[in-house]
Amino acid sequence: MKLGIVGLPNVGKSTLFNAITSTKNAQAANYPFCTIEPNSGIVAVPDKRLDKLTEIWQTNKKTPAIVEFVDIAGLVKGASQGAGLGNKFLGHIRECDAIVHVVRCFDDDNIIHVVEDVTKAVAVDPIADIDAIDYELILSDLEVVQNRVGRMAKAAKSGNNKGAAAEAAWLQKLADHLSAGKPARSFDFDEGDAEQQAVLHEMGLLSSKPVLYACNVGEDDLMEGIENNRYVPLVAARAAEEGARYIPICAKTEEDIADYSPEEKKAFLAEMGIEASGLDNLITASYDLLGLISFLTDGKKECRAWTIRKGTKAPQAAGKIHSDFERGFIRASVIGYGDLEANNFDYAAVKSKGLQRTEGKEYVVKDGDVIEFLFNV
Ligand code: GDP
Repeated sequence: MKLGIVGLPNVGKSTLFNAITSTKNAQAANYPFCTIEPNSGIVAVPDKRLDKLTEIWQTNKKTPAIVEFVDIAGLVKGASQGAGLGNKFLGHIRECDAIVHVVRCFDDDNIIHVVEDVTKAVAVDPIADIDAIDYELILSDLEVVQNRVGRMAKAAKSGNNKGAAAEAAWLQKLADHLSAGKPARSFDFDEGDAEQQAVLHEMGLLSSKPVLYACNVGEDDLMEGIENNRYVPLVAARAAEEGARYIPICAKTEEDIADYSPEEKKAFLAEMGIEASGLDNLITASYDLLGLISFLTDGKKECRAWTIRKGTKAPQAAGKIHSDFERGFIRASVIGYGDLEANNFDYAAVKSKGLQRTEGKEYVVKDGDVIEFLFNV
């Protein structure tokens, strides 16, 4: 599961990517195409529950869940028409499962804000930026959908494909929706229609991917309070309209503190009066955006967070650990993390209160379940 970091040039994508991966391999420079090849990086998902379990068990081995980010640079207005290496970048977005859309919310006269013409600076305008990127994704999707409508209409005429006429009909509605400038994600799909879902999967529409807006605020905003930033509320309103999420973040500061130790980072955040770093919030929200949750396994040997999709049942969750666990699944012994915490991590007390539950094959695993699987070999 990967997230693509997209946005107009110079909004801070590479800076954010560097901060996320704590590496310096994506050059962050005041240059519109500084990251020509997509950079990909894997990052641990922050999880206080896992930190606590590791502390309780005093184990040396802590294995967090991970998520992959790809820095997709170079999207400009006209990308869907092949401008600014556009098509190549759209192809990279197609391979991602969700999008982190970085929006410039900082003022800095030294960093040019470009939309259409990379040599022409324009005023900072987050909504225009969002529209510019959306427009390219929608236009690219429209081409894909229209091509398919044409093919299906032809197949329907030839009489060789029974479902073709029906498919052409709903695809035409989708094309109209896109033509009106609306993203595929706001189209009223029939989730119970397996064929429609298969077609959608095959088309891999860019504007159907879930989106999270990362509002890149200035360093001053962190000092003076993000609530004073005049651009963030605009993005917040847009996100609310779309049912999307937004996270304010200062990419530059996050990059600066990326190689701090956890203690130093904590002290820095405390000084700023912030509880969690914007980056931690962003990674956590990204994980959620992908529809992922974690269940936990604990013990002296290792404490670990395992990634599953929301709605995964116990045997399939067991299969994440080992395929034998899924094949030979008997039952799962489950304690909710909240119950452990409420009982001060006294496992005996949790058990005597009946809070360690035995769950079977149909159990839908919840985020933060601490699980032990019983299986046949
Ligand atoms: P990209 O083209 O979107 O990948 O943008 P970069 O990450 O390369 O950033 C472009 C320029 O903006 C660089 O000079 C960054 O240092 C600068 N920049 C990024 N984030 C911030 C920020 O939060 N505040 C300020 N003042 N500059 C930033």
